[in-house]
Amino acid sequence: MLLTKADLVDDTSPYIEQLAEQSVGCALLVLSVVSGEGIDALSKLLLPGQSAVLVGSSGVGKSSLVNALLGAEVQSVASIRAGDAKGKHTTTRRELLHLPESGALLIDTPGMREFGLVASEAGVAVDQSFTDVETLAEDCLYRDCIHKQEPGCAVQRSIEEGQLSAARLKSYQKLLREIEYNERRGSVDKAREARRVWKKRMVQYKQRTRFSPKS
Ligand code: GDP
Ligand code: ZN
Repeated sequence: MLLTKADLVDDTSPYIEQLAEQSVGCALLVLSVVSGEGIDALSKLLLPGQSAVLVGSSGVGKSSLVNALLGAEVQSVASIRAGDAKGKHTTTRRELLHLPESGALLIDTPGMREFGLVASEAGVAVDQSFTDVETLAEDCLYRDCIHKQEPGCAVQRSIEEGQLSAARLKSYQKLLREIEYNERRGSVDKAREARRVWKKRMVQYKQRTRFSPKS
């Protein structure tokens, strides 16, 4: 997971804490294309023969990051405007970029809305695995429980019991909305593929851990 535009704040620790809550078992890199912080560290993670994908809302700094990694102006990036944390919405295309130095492939995406598309083309998109929530959800009374007000909801119960953070459920529901958005938009196949990848990861996760919400 990447925290971009670190130069815009004096202290990144509150943001790091917030991100840690929303992701399990996922490395976090603090980056800035302005100060150059973290760019080398990210380069080192990109290995020959590997594909990486940048997923994030428009304006978070994906193109700028690609430029920093390439060390050249490949994408059109709006010039950095002082004091503007939001930035312009500049990414309009998805591109597959070859990083000559590391030999890695980098996919630049227009935004989180493309999650389904990214997941199907890259195999696995980002470490957006909410396997802990999925595992808990198996104990919900209703199969189609959306973990809001339903009786017998195991996910809500774990939040009450302090096992799961409410923020994490919120992130999970956000991802579900993204997938549903893709479905509504008619990209049923893409959404299905995203689900398939996701399910596969869930199975892998279960094989790796002995975590059982029932015990
Ligand atoms: P994308 O839509 O995710 O590809 O985002 P861009 O790379 O186009 O960046 C959006 C805006 O944020 C632009 O105005 C960039 O100049 C600015 N930006 C990107 N990275 C940084 C950074 O590390 N620090 C600062 N201060 N601004 C940045
Ligand atoms: Zn539930």
